[in-house]
Amino acid sequence: VEIGLGSRTNTIMQSAFFKIAQVIPYDKAVEQMKKAIVKTFGRKGEGVVKMNNEAVDQGAAVIKVDVPAEWSKLEGKVVINGVKNAPDFIKNFVQPINAQKGDDLPVSAFKGMEDGTLPAGTTAYEKRGIAVDVPEWQMDNCIQCNQCSYVCPHAAIRPFLLDEKELAGAPSGLLTKKTNGKGFEDLQYRIQVSVLDCTGCGNCADICPAKTKALVMKSLESQMPQKENWDYIASNVTYKDTISPKDMNVKASQFAKPLFEFSGACAGCGETPYIKLITQLFGDRMMIANATGCSSIYGGSAPASSYCKGDDGRGPAWANSLFEDNAEYGLGMALGVEKMRDRIERKMKESLTEVNAETKAVFELWLENKLNGAKTMEISKAVVKTLANETHAVAKEILALKNYLAKKSMWIFGGDGWAYDIGYGGLDHVIASGKDVNILVMDTEVYSNTGGQSSKATPIGAIAKFAASGKRIRKKDLGLMATTYGYVYVAQVSMGANQAQYFKALKEAEAYPGPSLIIAYSPCISHGLKNGMGKTQEEGKLAVESGYWHLFRYNPLNEDEGKNPFTLDSKEPDWSKFQAFLHNEVRYTALLKAFPADAAELFKASEDNAKWRYSSYKRLAELDYKIIE
Ligand code: SF4
Ligand code: SF4
Ligand code: MG
Repeated sequence: VEIGLGSRTNTIMQSAFFKIAQVIPYDKAVEQMKKAIVKTFGRKGEGVVKMNNEAVDQGAAVIKVDVPAEWSKLEGKVVINGVKNAPDFIKNFVQPINAQKGDDLPVSAFKGMEDGTLPAGTTAYEKRGIAVDVPEWQMDNCIQCNQCSYVCPHAAIRPFLLDEKELAGAPSGLLTKKTNGKGFEDLQYRIQVSVLDCTGCGNCADICPAKTKALVMKSLESQMPQKENWDYIASNVTYKDTISPKDMNVKASQFAKPLFEFSGACAGCGETPYIKLITQLFGDRMMIANATGCSSIYGGSAPASSYCKGDDGRGPAWANSLFEDNAEYGLGMALGVEKMRDRIERKMKESLTEVNAETKAVFELWLENKLNGAKTMEISKAVVKTLANETHAVAKEILALKNYLAKKSMWIFGGDGWAYDIGYGGLDHVIASGKDVNILVMDTEVYSNTGGQSSKATPIGAIAKFAASGKRIRKKDLGLMATTYGYVYVAQVSMGANQAQYFKALKEAEAYPGPSLIIAYSPCISHGLKNGMGKTQEEGKLAVESGYWHLFRYNPLNEDEGKNPFTLDSKEPDWSKFQAFLHNEVRYTALLKAFPADAAELFKASEDNAKWRYSSYKRLAELDYKIIE
């Protein structure tokens, strides 16, 4: 039975139907199903109910087919779509669990993982091939902006730079073009899609700014030859992210390997592109504490992990905790790392006069740059190298702590249900601590993972569970609240509206030597986008253009230069688009259908509140900033 709504609803409805059909006669099951459809979708209008009923009728028109008796003896087998040389962990652990044979695993299969630590990067072996259509690169039209890669929620489309040697062994269908960047003259450019990892959302093709689109959605079947190209690139082509430093701009960042890939997030997810960029910039020295919610499910549903490592073997260390304590969990990680690094500092200082001259020079360099992430990445290699020749006992002690030589990029991830509601006390405690942690709140304005319950991030007038007749009270301004500490870096971003603003905010937040909070607007299936999930980037843009969401950065460091810490990054909205924005999402139009009178009043209140918010931001941005002497 195909039910004609979002993918999540489909699965729920199908499984409900088959459960009913197992215990009662088929025609009764159809009847009950149709009652459920009216109850669930009635408020979405007759059209939707009719479509669903038709789907049930089609599904119920069953024809009995006799199958050969020997089919009952067939053994299930997991087939990995052509991935060669899967590691033992995948073959002996992940595949049996995915084949629902996890209970049969012997205790010995868990050897080395007794503490719950699992190897990362397993999603690269899934190759689900779930897209109907995938993008085809139109090489001649491409202007090499890398935006397709920046917005892809699944890291399934990436730009590559190939040198002569890499090109020589490439399959004949792997076409490339001359690069157009400075310093790249000897390299050839190519956009490569991993067609079996793409979910077919279409955001890449939608965002492509080329005069004639350089990405066209075509059937997965027609694009299967691309698999050979992806496989070749994955094993033979390096990520060249230093020719233009990857933290230079949006384009340069995309030549870095995403250390978060092929997650199980919904097609078109508005959250995952934010995470992907963080891993591209800081993934090689990154630790993540993840609150329970969508991001923990697509981040690491054991035994799957979408976080992976680069060619140097480094990648994010990730762990998940509960809704109610994730910020504290992340703070604990940060404090643990701080203690280890303090110990390194003490050991170095104590032994400065006793170690050889080369070691002394390297120690001094490390001590000077202890809090600089990028520099300590480099210096730590020199420390390890020189300690190999050092006879002093300190060498052994510091080498035992070598994983802490590089300054960690500490991240705390979660959704609005965690940050605005259940985990707010902890979040407040952590930002108040003044410690150097970075917090990313992916704001979907509802509890997305548990089915769309209202949170304090839900705006007035939106329909959500526990707010079936529209939320009556305005959205909490978490960002503005955090700015009142005065020592917390805060940014409100929307990637679809301004890619460079998110890029800038991310760099500033990570570099800020104290707590940082980024609140990211994240379109979600629970919003019911009328234009579909292939338009999540576009929706993020409309949100800002219409005044529904605003972009700002609050950087306490500006105060040191006598400047206003508050910068409003979005221009005066076109308020005439505000109501149209609400009418573009089912979470709002559903209210219009169910309670038309209330809807008119609440939609007006929503616009009033958006204007009020914008004015308050504008006032802050325009303050004649001066500290009274
Ligand atoms: Fe990525 Fe979606 Fe494009 Fe596939 S269609 S490459 S998942 S943005
Ligand atoms: Fe090329 Fe379009 Fe991708 Fe830009 S978005 S790199 S023009 S395919
Ligand atoms: Mg949410």
